Order: sequence, then structure tokens, then C-alpha cells
Amino acid sequence: MIVNTKTDLHLHTTASDGRLTPKEVVDLVYSKGLRSMAITDHDTLQGYIDAKSYADTIGMDLLTGVELTTDYNGRECHILAYGFDPESESMQTLFIDQRFKRKERATEIVKKLNKLGFDLEMDDIRAESGKATISRNHIADVMRHKSFVATRKEAFDRYLFTGGPAYVQNEYITVAQAIETVHESGGVCILAHPGPYYIFEDLRYFLNAGIDGLEYIHPSHNFQTQKKLKEYADNYQLLLTGGSDFHGIKPFEEQLVGTVCVDRSRVDAILDRSKVAIGIKETQS
Ligand code: AMP
Ligand code: MN
Ligand code: MN
Ligand code: MN
Repeated sequence: MIVNTKTDLHLHTTASDGRLTPKEVVDLVYSKGLRSMAITDHDTLQGYIDAKSYADTIGMDLLTGVELTTDYNGRECHILAYGFDPESESMQTLFIDQRFKRKERATEIVKKLNKLGFDLEMDDIRAESGKATISRNHIADVMRHKSFVATRKEAFDRYLFTGGPAYVQNEYITVAQAIETVHESGGVCILAHPGPYYIFEDLRYFLNAGIDGLEYIHPSHNFQTQKKLKEYADNYQLLLTGGSDFHGIKPFEEQLVGTVCVDRSRVDAILDRSKVAIGIKETQS
């Protein structure tokens, strides 16, 4: 194994909808030669908390990270936050809030499924998710275990897809609220995988809302998309990040780790900017 100077800033664990435990994900990234990474579970810092001391022991730099689900004019929008204080009360309140909203929404989805004739209840969903952030994936898995559907995909394709018969929209915090909370906690906000979702007019909105950067390297971005996002970010002095968005569900995903990644200097730029945010550093070098 050759140690390199890359970093993967987008990985999921069992703390949200990933298959591997936080420690296993750290080991996977390490085995690819990387010594820097961020766990970015949906709306929780638990993956980071569980893996931090292990990462320190083996010499893996683990940056604080989370993928926040937010509301952008009625559309779901993922914001990656990095470099915030893990003890920050406002972040902790935000996580509790988001997770509560996810639980409420799952309850509504279960009610819809009951009306559609499926016999399942919230206890089944809770048993499936354990301590992880509840997502539609857990509901799909319960439906699979109960043989209501043959695959997770079938559960989504027939019932859970956005706008589908069992879909319920969540009342997430707005983009602006998320950015404000993360900044208060000394972190930076990056628009996750903008490529397939946003056109450049949308980027103007995020810029005005105070976004700090764009995730330009992502498995869903082709070279052209990467190039456009990089040009845009350079133009507006935005940070650039990237990662594999590893969930460990599909067989090819392990190959993305260590391949779909960015230079470690991107982490230094994040830390520089977050110091500015909490007033430790007045100017950016
Ligand atoms: P949630 O955060 O509860 O809305 O669930 C979002 C997750 O569901 C995503 O991260 C995907 O993993 C999964 N998902 C969403 N739409 C689909 C779909 N059409 N097919 C399969 N999985 C999906
Ligand atoms: Mn996910
Ligand atoms: Mn996402
Ligand atoms: Mn993700």
C-alpha cells in the first residue's frame, strides 16, 4: 500500500444509512492509503464520535463532518458541514431536531403504508434503524424483510419514491438556518453534489445564503461537471471538496474510495476558513 496525500470528505457509516461501522469505514479508507477523511453521516455526528479515538490511534486525521438535510424552496438539499466544534451546543440541538423530524416523518410514512394495506409499525422501523438516523432506506428494508417487496429498489420504485404513494415530505431546516448554525459553531458549509441537481442560477442563491464551497468531486459528476463547478468556485473564492459518498451498499463502491477523492490541501483550506468564522484568524492566507 502506498500512502498518499489525498482525502475523502464524503463517507457514510451505520450511524446513518451506510453498511459499515465507523471503525470499518476508517479502516477501509486507511487501506486505500489515505490518512485524512471525514465521516459525513446524514444529520448526525455519531459516526465521528464513535471513530475519533480509533482514528487518532492509527494516525488517520478525522475531520468533523455531517451531511445536513435542508429545505431549499421546498426541495430537499444536502449541505455538507466540516470543521465545526464537535461539542457545539447549537449543532447538537440541530441534530436532535433533525432526527426528531425524521422520526415524525417515518411515523407518517408508516401510516400511509398501513392505509395501503401493509402491516408494519414504528417499532419495526426502530428495530431496523437501531441508533442510526432513520431514513427511507430503513423503511424499505423492513418492507423487504416482511416480504411486501422483493428488493429495496422495489420499495422505492412502487411506494417510497419522492411523490410516491407512501412519500411524506420532511420539514427540514432551511438552507439559511443550516448555514447560520454551522458558522456559529466554527464550521464551513459545502453544497453537496450540486452537479445533477442544480443549474448555475441556483448556485447564485447558495452564494447569497453564505455557502462556503462546492463539492466538485463526486461519483455522479463527470469531468465536464467537475470543470464547470471548479471554474465557478474559483471565480467566487469558494472552497472545493470531494469524496466517494461511500455507503457500502453496491459492490463497486469500495473502488471509489481512494479514487474519487481530493487533495489533502483542501482540508487545510477548510480549516483556514473555519478559523476565520470563529474569529481565531482575521485573514486567510
Ligand atoms: P431520506 O433521507 O429518508 O429521504 O432517504 C433518502 C435515501 O433514500 C437516499 O440517501 C437514498 O439512499 C435512498 N433513496 C432515495 N430515493 C431512492 C430511489 N428512488 N431508489 C433507491 N433509493 C433511494
Ligand atoms: Mn445516504
Ligand atoms: Mn447526499
Ligand atoms: Mn452522502
